[in-house]
Amino acid sequence: MQIEGYSIDLEKVAQTIKKKGYKTVAIQIPEGLKRYVLKIVEFLEYETHATMIVSADPCFGACDIVNNKLKNLDVEFVIHVGHTPIPEIENYCIPTTFVNALSTKDITKAVEKSLSFLEGKRIGIVTTAQHLHSLDVAENILQKNNFKPILTTGDARISTKGQILGCDFSAGMNIIDKVDCFLFIGSGTFHPVGLLLSSKKPVIAADPYTNSVKKQEIDELKDIILRQRYGAIANSKNASKFGILVGLKRGQQRMDLAYRVRKTFDAFNKKSLIIALDNFSPISLQGFSNIDCFVSIACPRIAIDDYLQYKIPIITSIELEIVLGKRKWEDYRFDQILG
Ligand code: SF4
Repeated sequence: MQIEGYSIDLEKVAQTIKKKGYKTVAIQIPEGLKRYVLKIVEFLEYETHATMIVSADPCFGACDIVNNKLKNLDVEFVIHVGHTPIPEIENYCIPTTFVNALSTKDITKAVEKSLSFLEGKRIGIVTTAQHLHSLDVAENILQKNNFKPILTTGDARISTKGQILGCDFSAGMNIIDKVDCFLFIGSGTFHPVGLLLSSKKPVIAADPYTNSVKKQEIDELKDIILRQRYGAIANSKNASKFGILVGLKRGQQRMDLAYRVRKTFDAFNKKSLIIALDNFSPISLQGFSNIDCFVSIACPRIAIDDYLQYKIPIITSIELEIVLGKRKWEDYRFDQILG
């Protein structure tokens, strides 16, 4: 099915629903695609005669699959639109199918424009779920212009070659020693700045929606983030009571790490408690008014991207090591959830 710039393979999903005889199906869809969900529901209800229930909770990534509460509504099957599966967590509670929303934008112009920004000849190509099907276009353009495109698979949380998530840059890190720079295909700075912070290699972003290329903006954002992280670490040094934030979203759960962090606090004679939450926000945490610092073990982007929203410092477990003197600032690493 084609919907305003996206190709979403709903026909295959409709076949599955009919074959399995599902009567009640939930749809999970990210905020940016919610305006199309009425069309999706109309199509699927017409094709399958099943009842579609749309989950209105925010859906930030493939990590964020629905929990058992939907079973209270007799949901038998979940359609997760707009992300590719994190293989480790697929079908964790209710049978779930991931249906990618592939962008129909031609990436040619943006990639051609990026050529003059590339540094060196060995170029690592990465992208997000929306443009995975266009990576061969980028490879061909680079080859024709005497560059050497390099793509590889990521870890167990990554389903497709060349794909990165905001918390998992393994498809880039696995080729870090083989590339001179990275070419990111997609919009926004969220993914490219994460890749830059993780890899410390130049990242050039080619945006097929605007046919623009970003390099300086990503570099500047990285500097801003690092300054903020330095400040957050400095502000955490005198903290004595810590909240260890654990995500309830299946793909964000790192309980082993949470327990290790807890033990570290015990060893340093610092008070700590583990706090579990589905959607993190300053309002949901405001009751913990005697906590001096939060350590986020959930989505690493909460500490990095939402930092200014919180009244007290919120840091990652890697940053905590710097706070406690176990790691030097010079060895700063971007926190990733790796599989
Ligand atoms: S953990 Fe965060 S960055 Fe990773 S997929 Fe989920 S929402 Fe995206």
